[in-house]
Amino acid sequence: DLAVTEGRVEYDDVSFGYDADERILEDIDFTVDGGETLALVGPTGAGKSTVLKLLLRMYDVDEGEIRVDGQSVQDVTLRSLRESLGYVSQDTFLFYGSVEENIKYGTFDADREDVIEAAKMAEAHEFIQNLPDGYDTEVGERGVKLSGGQRQRVSIARAILKDPDILVLDEATSDVDTETEMLIQRSIDDLAEDRTTFAIAHRLSTIKDADQVLVLEGGEIVERGTHEEL
Ligand code: ATP
Ligand code: MG
Repeated sequence: DLAVTEGRVEYDDVSFGYDADERILEDIDFTVDGGETLALVGPTGAGKSTVLKLLLRMYDVDEGEIRVDGQSVQDVTLRSLRESLGYVSQDTFLFYGSVEENIKYGTFDADREDVIEAAKMAEAHEFIQNLPDGYDTEVGERGVKLSGGQRQRVSIARAILKDPDILVLDEATSDVDTETEMLIQRSIDDLAEDRTTFAIAHRLSTIKDADQVLVLEGGEIVERGTHEEL
């Protein structure tokens, strides 16, 4: 099992391709110290989301190694790895089930009050209350269709409730209006504080606050540093 102590994440010369004949990532090499925030920026198709998916072990690296506190992600159980990671993905996926079940997914000891608190932090409480059955409303194909921004907020609430060692945000607030985005940004800042955070960022505020910024282009790191340095 993965035992996260500091939350230090190392990518050691990682290369990867979805197909054997096409490299998507080439020699990705960086370290994020425990508690730090790493911002990944770069044009569409650069490989930003892929970098994060490898940490979650949605795919296996072709070369190199990814380590969390010195343990290769290949050598730990998938379950313990995913338990340590909170993931807000670009295309937020909701399960069949109620809004509450969707927020609780991955957390085992939460009650309704915890769910509401997390939803409030994610600026989701208000719209959830206005759904036909509130937190019991069924979502997904068989239930109500939520907008992209609403799905993202459910997904952020899920990450907040999970309270993970390592937070992985893939454009977490790209799909909402400016005001909601500002509010969500505030709760994400709280969430990122004192925990290792990966953020694919388009907003300057996230990039400014990051301890380290990696610029990815065509699957390679072309620049790195703090926002001031770049
Ligand atoms: P965006 O800013 O648009 O989200 P990105 O930097 O996150 O882009 P990725 O999603 O990591 O980019 O994609 C990198 C490359 O890998 C792209 O060329 C993309 O077409 C390809 N790719 C992504 N997912 C898959 C997949 N499941 N199968 C095959 N190729 C993929
Ligand atoms: Mg992406």
